[in-house]
Amino acid sequence: MQKSKTLSVIANKKIDKSKLDNASKIILELQHELKKYINTGHGPFLAAIYDSKGNLIAKAANSVVNKSCSHNHAEMNAIKLAEKKLRTYDLSKYDLSIYVTSEPCMMCLGAIIWSGIKEVYYGVPSKRVTKITGFDEGFKPDWFNEFKKRGITVYGQIETDAGEQVLQDYVTQGHIIYKPKRNYFAKATRAIHK
Ligand SMILES: [Zn+2]
Repeated sequence: MQKSKTLSVIANKKIDKSKLDNASKIILELQHELKKYINTGHGPFLAAIYDSKGNLIAKAANSVVNKSCSHNHAEMNAIKLAEKKLRTYDLSKYDLSIYVTSEPCMMCLGAIIWSGIKEVYYGVPSKRVTKITGFDEGFKPDWFNEFKKRGITVYGQIETDAGEQVLQDYVTQGHIIYKPKRNYFAKATRAIHK
């Protein structure tokens, strides 16, 4: 594969260097760890939730295929684990951040809002995920601004080279790309990503 241009970090507020450095470290670790999850049948996405003191609250990989559940995305699994652990449906009082190896899809964006998570850090943007793997990431309006309005910080495109390599390896190794084989999907994807 021809290597894509390295992307720069984007955010919905002024970038705090120490937060970005911390996020880069966590996301690189997640990308590395993700390879082990893929080898045990998980999908190529991993999410971790930390509190503001740096304690790990929950970590989970995508388990759509191995658990036969369409909404078992990494973010959904991690949020469910965190809520179970903290015994609450409202994480807002815990000041939590979610770190994800790729940009959350439309379903996970909703789940993050409803969970009360305060900060989102992700690696590979959806456009690149779709281009490399063919996964459907759904339609997404201007979610950076929507999250900003709701007081949720977003930093994206962190350590994308490492993330894209993991996704590329997932494809090369012949793992399952699950996506709806529906006519509207192919047309919609062409329209969005051309
Ligand atoms: Zn998702």
